[in-house]
Amino acid sequence: MRLDALRLDPHTLPGPVWIVSPHPDDEALGCAALTATLSGLGREVHALLVTDGGFSHPNSRAYPRARLARTRLAEWRAGLAVLGVLETRTHALGLPDGGLDALDPGSIRREVERAFATAPPATLLLPWRRDPHPDHRATWGPVWNAAPPAARRLEYAVWLPERGGGSDWPTEREARVWTLAVGAARPRKAQAIAAHATQLGGVPDDPDGFTLAPEMVERALDGPELYFEAAGQPALEITA
Ligand SMILES: [Zn+2]
Repeated sequence: MRLDALRLDPHTLPGPVWIVSPHPDDEALGCAALTATLSGLGREVHALLVTDGGFSHPNSRAYPRARLARTRLAEWRAGLAVLGVLETRTHALGLPDGGLDALDPGSIRREVERAFATAPPATLLLPWRRDPHPDHRATWGPVWNAAPPAARRLEYAVWLPERGGGSDWPTEREARVWTLAVGAARPRKAQAIAAHATQLGGVPDDPDGFTLAPEMVERALDGPELYFEAAGQPALEITA
């Protein structure tokens, strides 16, 4: 982490707040402490799930894709409830896990816009634009473009500290780096991560399926959470 990171003050973030997750668990790993803090401050917090999460265990017979997607949706909502996000403020698009980059970004954007229209975001937490996962990168543009221009956009890191190369990190000119200590939110963050049982060994019959490494969970709990805020708000247009 760069040494010139600043401490994020959650009081400065206005509501409504939207937490965007490409997959169920991204919010728990990447921005649970901030989500819990903002809920505690009384902000109206909404959550948007972009994919169905149904690709984590493709060889499981116990969890065929539809069952896995249903289970992961319930896990996502349960984890968010721990962080103070009401189920009535959860919105799931159900797009194909592992296949976002094959979709038309314009159509993703329109679906996100429809969700945002229910309570236009004043603060938006979305995955870092170069977080090293194809679905995370494919989420960034349509979500960025769907939000009102004035919304404050903080991009959170999930896989960047685990797998990111040097060029995946923001350059000094590109973004301000904020950190948030997990601190008192640690038990809730742990509970929010634990809600994702299918990602923690809970799918018994697909040994090649995805499992969150205990070390990654520990690092996420130790924090701090990392947020990048682009310098200026460049007009980014999607060509599609
Ligand atoms: Zn993800």
